[in-house]
Amino acid sequence: MALAKLLEGKIVADRIKDKLKASVLSLKQAPVLASILVGDDPSAMAYVKSQAKIATSLGITYNLHQLAESISEDELIDFVLKLNADVSVNGIIVQIPLPQDINYMKVCEFILPNKDVEGMHPTNIGKVLFGRVRIVACTANAVMELLSFTGIDLYGKEVVVVGHSEIVGKPLALLLLEKFATVTVCHIGTSKAGKLEEHVRRAEILIVAVGKAGLIKGDWIKEGAIVIDVGINRVGDKIVGDVEFATAAKRASWITPVPGGVGPLTVAILMRNLIEAAQAQ
Ligand code: NDP
Repeated sequence: MALAKLLEGKIVADRIKDKLKASVLSLKQAPVLASILVGDDPSAMAYVKSQAKIATSLGITYNLHQLAESISEDELIDFVLKLNADVSVNGIIVQIPLPQDINYMKVCEFILPNKDVEGMHPTNIGKVLFGRVRIVACTANAVMELLSFTGIDLYGKEVVVVGHSEIVGKPLALLLLEKFATVTVCHIGTSKAGKLEEHVRRAEILIVAVGKAGLIKGDWIKEGAIVIDVGINRVGDKIVGDVEFATAAKRASWITPVPGGVGPLTVAILMRNLIEAAQAQ
């Protein structure tokens, strides 16, 4: 069997970015993204750096607000409210992880829905539920873009999503349902019941967003399946996904590399959400 084709996020991201450059030029002024970083978590700092670089390359103003690790939840919410009131700010993003005593989803509830460029406000999540998609969670949307790139028609396909977080698995399941895929969402309960393998084995499309290296064995992959690995895990000095790549690539038709799959696309989608928010405002 031939090796799977690589589903590289960069190629799709570059196409999106080309369109975004033109959209920015058509706006009266450069859109402004306010990014809130609490503390100095190294992975969040790296993510912020890459966001800032891409924003600048597109003509977007990226304002980083680095706040002290000691900030309380109420103080952070007050900060968000100030950015809501600032008409020069088009979009707000709260970087994760946050300190343990701050609830990320609660903070997101205070972002104005039309400035919530990550699609985390309940109003925006609710719109996804009703199929009135406006701003959609970036990672879930990145997965949909990758699937679209393969040319697959999702209608009636057996899609298995592993992971049911608010930022990836749950919104993704809704987006897939919108396309009439048959969606199974697996989570820790599925694994504990010993049923993860049987669900993965019948997936025509498998999307994994857990954060556990090697959780999905390569020989579980159905021949010809499309495999999208959202997971990011540091193993020694390497970054790997949740799927055993080498063996999975011998069975899949398409597979995302990690790094280089979903990641590069997520930031491009974030910028697209910002520009769409600025246009709507
Ligand atoms: P969360 O920790 O919020 O969610 C992980 C999910 O996996 C939960 O639903 C959890 O279930 C489930 N889970 C945990 N253990 C198992 C198991 N043994 N079997 C099946 N399901 C399990 O993580 P995120 O959704 O935020 O992120 C998931 C991964 O994706 C991480 O590695 C993260 O770094 C990566 N990521 C990558 C992005 C990118 O741009 N490439 C963007 C966002 C995330 P339960 O909650 O019930 O325990």
